[in-house]
Amino acid sequence: MTQFLPFHLPDIGEEEIDAVVSVLRSGWLTTGARAKQFEQDFAAMLGARYAVAVNSCTAALHLALEAIGIEEGDEVILPTMTFTATAEVVTYFKAKPVLVDCLPDTLNIDPDQIERAITSKTKAIIPVHFAGHPCDMDRISDIANRYGLRVIEDAAHALPARYRGRLIGTLSDCTCFSFYATKNITTGEGGMITTDNPEWAERIRTMSLHGLSRDAWKRYDGHGSWFYEVLSPGFKYNLTDIAAALGIAQLHKSDRLWKTRERYAGLYDEGFRDLPEIVLPTAAAHVQHAWHLYVIRLDSERSGIGRDRLIEHLGKEHIGCSVHFIPLHLHPYYRDTWGYTSEQFPVATAAYQQIVSLPLYPKMTETDIQRVISVVRTLIQGSRR
Ligand SMILES: *Cc1c(COP(=O)(O)O)cnc(C)c1O
Repeated sequence: MTQFLPFHLPDIGEEEIDAVVSVLRSGWLTTGARAKQFEQDFAAMLGARYAVAVNSCTAALHLALEAIGIEEGDEVILPTMTFTATAEVVTYFKAKPVLVDCLPDTLNIDPDQIERAITSKTKAIIPVHFAGHPCDMDRISDIANRYGLRVIEDAAHALPARYRGRLIGTLSDCTCFSFYATKNITTGEGGMITTDNPEWAERIRTMSLHGLSRDAWKRYDGHGSWFYEVLSPGFKYNLTDIAAALGIAQLHKSDRLWKTRERYAGLYDEGFRDLPEIVLPTAAAHVQHAWHLYVIRLDSERSGIGRDRLIEHLGKEHIGCSVHFIPLHLHPYYRDTWGYTSEQFPVATAAYQQIVSLPLYPKMTETDIQRVISVVRTLIQGSRR
């Protein structure tokens, strides 16, 4: 029988296992020297002034919004084509997540729609680099500058990605990364915020650990100080040294992992290029795509079969796949609480009917990629009339 090909498997080698075991043997499990090193290595690799490690990208987004001063009644603009984490953090402040539609090619947030959604209450924009393709950051920065808005990037998919030669993580007020199990590099659960602003970096660090004063962090550097002061009611978002050790090892091979992703994306492109029924993901000439996801769109008018039929067929052929994303406006919470309708988001609503994320990760072999290609091709060609 054919082996099941999962939608994702993390790339964990002996380096990661040794690094974690060494933390376990060290006697220091939570935030300490490894977390600090992970932050320093991360900031150095990206060329960001500050990096603060936290235990998820959701926490990173929450702390970034807190640092820039989001308050009750504010509005934050973000794409409907994203994971709920991007929007839910806005509701933590009793602020409003203002959803906008995406562009038909990259499925990234549409800058024209951002501008249209701005009101006197708008405080920030959260662009999401969908699948790892950077958003149009020049236009987004220009809009933010003209209206006095902050930009917090959701870069959960975008490591390592470049926009006009510059690495994502260095372009806006704060950038938030995810090291969730399925992301391009993983710590099991984890996240990072990069910023060039020293006040925000300090605030984010303080709020990530109960709002404790900077002195309190000395408890974690081996000096063993007992003294701390609570400056604000903060959160418990610090990253453990166990996770950070994994992160350091993953970070050091992230370029190699990315090169494999890019090569596999190229193999998919070649394998599907001649099929008019499939719309392939695009990569603009001025970006480096992080290739977190390989999202194809099945044109059901051309193919005579729907996206659900393709997913069913992949399952029968023992291939895992997924859908990124069910747009937020289609979920009961966003629909019912904020009154969003499908008609407000024609591009995302139409795309949602067509999208399938195929497996793409460095643990796959070229043979796996070719098997996925052949299974998809057989179904599409067999459905032609
Ligand atoms: C995974 C993901 C998140 C959340 O990341 P966590 O580390 O699981 O909190 C946020 N935004 C997007 C677009 C994601 O894909």
